[in-house]
Amino acid sequence: MGRRKRTAFGDVSVTRVAFERGEARCAACRRPIGPGDGPTFVRSIGGSEPRLATLQCGRCRAMLTVHFADSEPAEA
Ligand SMILES: [Zn+2]
Repeated sequence: MGRRKRTAFGDVSVTRVAFERGEARCAACRRPIGPGDGPTFVRSIGGSEPRLATLQCGRCRAMLTVHFADSEPAEA
């Protein structure tokens, strides 16, 4: 996969583990975000685990797209 990594405003890149721990931050106001903010997980086609989630920051109402990064390299 030669997809270039783009980070637009509102995009948050974090590992799943860190997200579950609430270590991710809103891109706009830096408020901690996590499972308690009611994320909507986007399941990828053919994938077992969601790679994306969208949620709204509880403070500034920014719509955030969370990209779950692999915690370890998964090259075949
Ligand atoms: Zn915010």
